[in-house]
Amino acid sequence: MKSQTLQRKETVLLKIQDLQQDRHCLQQAGEIIRAGGLVALPTETVYGLGANALDPQAVTNIFLAKGRPQDNPLIIHLEDASQAQQYARDIPDVYYELCRRFSPGPLTVILPKKEIIPKETSGGLDTVAIRIPKHPVAREIIRFSGVPVAAPSANLSGSPSPTTASHCIHDLWGRVDAIVDAGECSVGLESTVISLAGERPILLRPGAVTPQMLREVLPDLLVHHAVTDKLEAGERADSPGMKYKHYAPQAQITVLDADSKEFVEYVNRHAHEGVFALCFEEDVLGLKVPCLSLGKDEIDQARNLFAALRELDNRGAKEVYARCPSKEGVGLAVYNRLIRAAAYHELSPQDTGKKEDGRF
Ligand code: AMP
Ligand code: MG
Repeated sequence: MKSQTLQRKETVLLKIQDLQQDRHCLQQAGEIIRAGGLVALPTETVYGLGANALDPQAVTNIFLAKGRPQDNPLIIHLEDASQAQQYARDIPDVYYELCRRFSPGPLTVILPKKEIIPKETSGGLDTVAIRIPKHPVAREIIRFSGVPVAAPSANLSGSPSPTTASHCIHDLWGRVDAIVDAGECSVGLESTVISLAGERPILLRPGAVTPQMLREVLPDLLVHHAVTDKLEAGERADSPGMKYKHYAPQAQITVLDADSKEFVEYVNRHAHEGVFALCFEEDVLGLKVPCLSLGKDEIDQARNLFAALRELDNRGAKEVYARCPSKEGVGLAVYNRLIRAAAYHELSPQDTGKKEDGRF
């Protein structure tokens, strides 16, 4: 019988500075996972909350620790693409071609699952999501565990995904067995998710592996409309994660689809107590409200977004105007997360122009 309550845990912090010298910590993390425990661990995308994907109780504990809805399936993390056939069936050749190009790395592929994957891991679906992470710490922990590691992002459900160990400590201390600290994640957004389990390959979540990159291998790749638009009421979610509230800070965020000048002018006209700007580097000097800069390009924006969303809460932001990223390349992934954090509240110059004086 599985237990549906999570016991308070004595969390240990394992700091990794050097793969060789701190090898015993990696081994300890792997052993905790093999024994059915929960370990928050760094990957190149975001920190993941890892457990043995084949152990229904361990996987149930992930859902309990995060407060995650149980129908939202988990990605399993393997050391090598050649292991996929142990967990997935009917694997098309193109899967291996994708792996040659993009694995190890921030790409997750959904395939029909084998029996060995418990329903707890697949959220009751007949498919399994597989990723081969690149981060050497994640890879060593998976290797030491000797099992496929189910790992959603290591945050409380609804909060921004963690990109540092301190984010994991904030959300999960006392709820997991160990937190492995290896500094900041390099990508900063969760993996690209595509499905090869349907009639045509489809991108369900954008990430650092962009549609343009994928189309070199999958010329007929579709992009699900929920990547940029809200699901219609009652519409079936091809990826259950699409249904849920995500990344939401306390503040109301409004995304402004504007160039730097328009953005700065609009925000300054709406300056009052509690207003913050989530901006790009080029906007900082002109702004008259407190601001957090995401950096200069889409790679910076991806790396900094989630920490900035947490920082807005720390600083007591009530209303936030966020500059809309480019919807091309990795910018599409930044936009996808930001628009969810904003509960799809977006204004373009035309919208505001009608209400105001013809200017943005
Ligand atoms: P996270 O665990 O927070 O990185 O989110 C994983 C995302 O992948 C969620 O949106 C899940 O709904 C989605 N996902 C995982 N497994 C599957 C699957 N078998 N079919 C469809 N979507 C999946
Ligand atoms: Mg998540």
